[in-house]
Amino acid sequence: MAIVWFRSNEGYIRSKCGRFEIFPNFCGNLHAKSYNLHDNRKTNDTTVAAGISFQSEAKLIAESIESKENTYIHLDAGNGKSLCGMNLHSRRLNTYSDCKACNNVAFNQLPDGPWDMYARYDERRGFFGIGSEIYAKAHRFDDDAILSVIVSINKDGNYWGWQEYRNPIPSMIWPSEIQFRMCFASDYKVKEQEKKGRSVRLDIKIRD
Ligand SMILES: [Zn+2]
Repeated sequence: MAIVWFRSNEGYIRSKCGRFEIFPNFCGNLHAKSYNLHDNRKTNDTTVAAGISFQSEAKLIAESIESKENTYIHLDAGNGKSLCGMNLHSRRLNTYSDCKACNNVAFNQLPDGPWDMYARYDERRGFFGIGSEIYAKAHRFDDDAILSVIVSINKDGNYWGWQEYRNPIPSMIWPSEIQFRMCFASDYKVKEQEKKGRSVRLDIKIRD
């Protein structure tokens, strides 16, 4: 999406979205000697490039900043904006990597439930095959009933599960940490540090 600029005024120019400004550096009182590009989305020093020879070059730098951002996949906050505050309409289709800012917001907003799920139960194992109805059915070894259950986060819960920041419905639910840990190719604690999701302790109750 190309940036639209206001008409240049004495070498100063601002983008219509208000985000970028190009300030001229004057030599004496004559023509602009060079230009500085400012990105007002930055919080402290908004200067992103200084001493640029041409205004057109500063515009190209601004374009490249915006196009790089638009290659990130943002998460929809439901109000026309992404969780990180970007306008979703600036999202491009050829996206290839997750927006870290959105991920952080999503990670810090992971819900605690409760969730309606399905499970099987036997006295030896407790609940198992916990998830969607299809998932629970896939774990049916005989004619035992598929139970409708309520799953919620509780720090003292008897079950372990995983909450992915992009899909916060708990998955990989097991009655011990050892079984839960085996769901991961590497250590789940590494995934937690990378803020891909979090491990949670869960309560499971049969729905009345
Ligand atoms: Zn984002």
